[in-house]
Amino acid sequence: MTSGHHQGGLEVVVGSMFSGKSEELIRRVRRAVIARRTVQVFKPAIDDRFGIELVRSHDGDTFVARPVRSSAEILALLSPETSVVGVDEVQFFDPAIVGVVRDLVADGRRVICAGLDLDFRGEPFGPVPTLLALAERVDKLEAICVVCGESATRTQRIVNGVPAYYDDPIIVIGAQEAYEARCRTCHVVPRRARSGSAATSETASPERVSSAEPRD
Ligand code: ADP
Ligand code: ZN
Repeated sequence: MTSGHHQGGLEVVVGSMFSGKSEELIRRVRRAVIARRTVQVFKPAIDDRFGIELVRSHDGDTFVARPVRSSAEILALLSPETSVVGVDEVQFFDPAIVGVVRDLVADGRRVICAGLDLDFRGEPFGPVPTLLALAERVDKLEAICVVCGESATRTQRIVNGVPAYYDDPIIVIGAQEAYEARCRTCHVVPRRARSGSAATSETASPERVSSAEPRD
């Protein structure tokens, strides 16, 4: 257990891609190390790599992180002396991450979660809305829209050079994929035309869909 006089708390850092979430997580855990706290950082494992990896910001800053395949693994790997727990890319965790985070905080730990609040369609991402609601502190960071230069709150997904469709699969085999920071106005999520025939890019509607607009 942690030293009794520290009250636990949850901090959540969200925003679009390139908004500086990883930079901010790295900044906070580095300061915790300076304060001589024992820190552990976790991130979802994207493949079979194991052992020690890094949280890496787009600017190249790094901090050691342990890849885990499930939120339960965080509890299994936690050292008793750890008082500060960082979780990067928290949007990719299973729903049980919420209970894990609550347990860590109830035990008196400071938990800092960073992740996307919205997916490429502009929809709330996995467990993040719940974590935002439970947090003592929330920071919603903004990137720069690569189209117009305003503040970007959305992540634009581009597949083979064009905006990804709302219902595009998460993985498009053989496709060239890219992500961009964009503002609400420049964020484009085309829907496929409703018709009996199979949808193709020729039949797709070019309409812009913002998540603030009512959906069917
Ligand atoms: P996140 O974790 O939110 O994806 P990172 O912390 O990895 O963000 O990276 C933030 C850094 O990305 C910025 O400090 C900046 O150097 C760089 N960057 C690249 N493109 C953009 C953009 N469109 N808007 C803001 N920062 C950008
Ligand atoms: Zn814009």
